Amino acid sequence: MDFVDQLKSQLDIVDVVGHYVRLKRNGASPRHVGLCPFHTEKTPSFGVHSVHQFYKCFGCDAKGDLIKFVMEIEGTTFWESLKLLSDRYGIPMPPRQRPDDPEARSRDALFEMHEIAARTFEENLNGPAGADARRYLEKRGVSPGASREFRLGLADARGQQLVQRLQRFGPELMEESGLIAKRQESAGFYDRFRNRLIFPIHNESGKVIAFGGRALGQDDQPKYLNSPETKIYRKTFVLYNLHRAKAQARKLDRMILVEGYMDVIGIYQAGIQNVVASCGTSLTNEQVRSIKRQIAQTEANAGHVVVNFDPDAGGARGTERSINLLLAEGLRVNILTLPGDADPDEFIQQQGVDNYRRLADSAPTYFRWLADVARAKFDMQSAEGRVQAFHFLLPSLQRVHDKLERAALVNEVSSYLGIDPQLIREQFRRASPDEGAIRRVAAISSSVPPNERLLLSCILQSEDARSAVLHYLGQGGVPGNLQLKSIFETMLAMRSGGSAFTLATLIDRLHERDQKIVGELTFQDASIDSQSATAQAIHCLKALEIKSIDDQRSILRRRIRDVENEGRLEEALRLADELQKMENERRQKRNGPS
Ligand SMILES: [Zn+2]
Repeated sequence: MDFVDQLKSQLDIVDVVGHYVRLKRNGASPRHVGLCPFHTEKTPSFGVHSVHQFYKCFGCDAKGDLIKFVMEIEGTTFWESLKLLSDRYGIPMPPRQRPDDPEARSRDALFEMHEIAARTFEENLNGPAGADARRYLEKRGVSPGASREFRLGLADARGQQLVQRLQRFGPELMEESGLIAKRQESAGFYDRFRNRLIFPIHNESGKVIAFGGRALGQDDQPKYLNSPETKIYRKTFVLYNLHRAKAQARKLDRMILVEGYMDVIGIYQAGIQNVVASCGTSLTNEQVRSIKRQIAQTEANAGHVVVNFDPDAGGARGTERSINLLLAEGLRVNILTLPGDADPDEFIQQQGVDNYRRLADSAPTYFRWLADVARAKFDMQSAEGRVQAFHFLLPSLQRVHDKLERAALVNEVSSYLGIDPQLIREQFRRASPDEGAIRRVAAISSSVPPNERLLLSCILQSEDARSAVLHYLGQGGVPGNLQLKSIFETMLAMRSGGSAFTLATLIDRLHERDQKIVGELTFQDASIDSQSATAQAIHCLKALEIKSIDDQRSILRRRIRDVENEGRLEEALRLADELQKMENERRQKRNGPS
């Protein structure tokens, strides 16, 4: 067995996908469903099949086996994905299977360099040179335990430490890592981070991929310096602390979103783990989606995001933008503003974590917050100002998909802003996007005749039925009038070629329409009882054969009539004989042994 087969046989696709997407099992069936990580959706159309070890999205048509899934979601090559799975699940990869791909090798090297850098920074912080930085952390209330868990560190002030430690990787990789920079005026390199408190940034699997550095000297600029983008670090995709936050976020259907590293650490060390920050960028769509992957199950249960940003002007604008991104993905949004405009970590130190939790639990919906922004922004004394305020709120109102919730909000807005609700409803209707525009996925398989559909379902779901039907078709051939003929023929070819049946291989060999049909039938809701699958399949097959003979008989009858009309009696008799044979065959199929 080669390594790919070994991985596939030891891993369960439900686990692998479940690492990234919250899945829900469909009763006792082997089908699991969740929100697709590859496109934006509010009701789950993404299925994972534990028997076929296959995933399929009915919205965007993403599909494949577990390795394909990892390639797509991590953006890695085939070999890198094998390596990632082998590391994550502790299944050692034989050396000769290691990738010979320069791209994968350099990514590997970058991960290794970041790990070396992280350890170097940690040593510095805990060594004699780290006394000042440790005092700073103590003053900010970061416990030694949290400092260890977050792997905080200190960058050496002279700027040559990493240059030396990473030398063996060569100048090209050193520069590519973003950890080392080239001197402008003279030859040589220096460390990008110097005399800074270091916050390692991890990817979703917990590997260090970048750093944020806070200046320690009063005059050092900028206050925060971040790693540049590299092959292993795409800023817009990464959330600080996501790998530690996700377990609790999934349990509670809730994520707290804050601005900075210190906010995350302050909240986390007080025992609230489901907290993340968008680091070094304002919140992006990709980041919102990775939050959603953790907390959302369905539209009705989309999960809550508690936004706890700095209340200053920049923070308010950031909050407004973030709200709209979060709402666009169907998430529920609450805004937490702490009394006295305190930072989360300050607040927790002064008022205790229970008070923080209480405020987070009762944080008002985003809408009340936004209405306050509108009231401050426009002149609420004049009718014109009130209408302006309403127009300011309208885009966010429109993003509320739930009709009842929206109606309640319209009432709330009208009384809060002092505008006639009738006027609001009128404006709203005019500006509303077309409800019907929401895409519904049409099932292609519903156009297939019922007997063919059932036959294919049976042989996809039951191995016994599959082997019985393919054995039978292997002898007599596939009836010529089947709509799904090419699917059955492909399965026959796979069988006679001696390859084991997997859904992934089958799908690979099919045309697009057939791929969709197979995907739909694999994940369909009506499940087939495995006990009776073979009997049902044989029953369908016979009905289809008889139908095929009937079709041929009517063609033949028409021809006989034509030939008779032309006066070619001899030919007519010959065809009549043929018809008779066919009728015998039909009778046999009906009554004879299976
Ligand atoms: Zn999709």
